[in-house]
Amino acid sequence: MAFVGILNAFADRRVHIDYAGDPLKEKERVQIERMMDYQVDFYTLFGLGDSLRVKLTVFNERSEAMFYLDTMGVTKIIPLNTANGLYNSGKKEAIILEMGKDRKKGLSVIYHELSHFFTREITCVNPPMWLMEGLSEYFEHCEVGKKGISHSMTSYEKGRIRTMYMLGEINLRTFVDADRTLFMKKQRNDEQYAYVLAHALVTFMVENVSRQILGNLIGLLQDNKDKSKVSEKIARVYPGGFETFEKDFEKLYR
Ligand SMILES: [Zn+2]
Repeated sequence: MAFVGILNAFADRRVHIDYAGDPLKEKERVQIERMMDYQVDFYTLFGLGDSLRVKLTVFNERSEAMFYLDTMGVTKIIPLNTANGLYNSGKKEAIILEMGKDRKKGLSVIYHELSHFFTREITCVNPPMWLMEGLSEYFEHCEVGKKGISHSMTSYEKGRIRTMYMLGEINLRTFVDADRTLFMKKQRNDEQYAYVLAHALVTFMVENVSRQILGNLIGLLQDNKDKSKVSEKIARVYPGGFETFEKDFEKLYR
């Protein structure tokens, strides 16, 4: 409907981005802002507040990014040799490490890191890693086109999941309950395992499961007094419980 489009075009932006570091091209900024509107529309379903503000610091050169991170004391905390970007939740700042090399890839990294900002906003407490990284992977794999925004999983990712099933490597219960340490260990030791599986899980949740169910799950995750495991929370909201959740996911990706 054209009318809606006009309204959106003039509506105030719900999220304000403070740009810092190396300048982005005007066209890139437009793409980022369109992606932010898209993410805001999505995250609003789960109780996103008003007046959101996030900082986006972009470095074309990795060495300059490293120097900047060093002054913040970040390099010591996480191994950064393979990262393309990171999100600092305390400062509400997304930092992009190497935009100069591949601008298109750089934009995807921006979508990924800014999604961490929104996920933190809606979950308040520490969200489960598969949800946190899965949502970011989801938006990283979105492309802003002339007509709209489209998401896809790469054929590498789809093949990787099929291989995991073939090798009997998938235990969804352990995976959704995994803490950060276990999640990152899986990622390091087992070729992209954690991010690919998290991406597939979130894609399933976003594209195949009703918003109502996803909303109910996020509602349970927001309740930090409820100490039950994530798999138990999924069992509570998913019709048929966790076993059906596992089966439905497997049907789609095996
Ligand atoms: Zn991430």
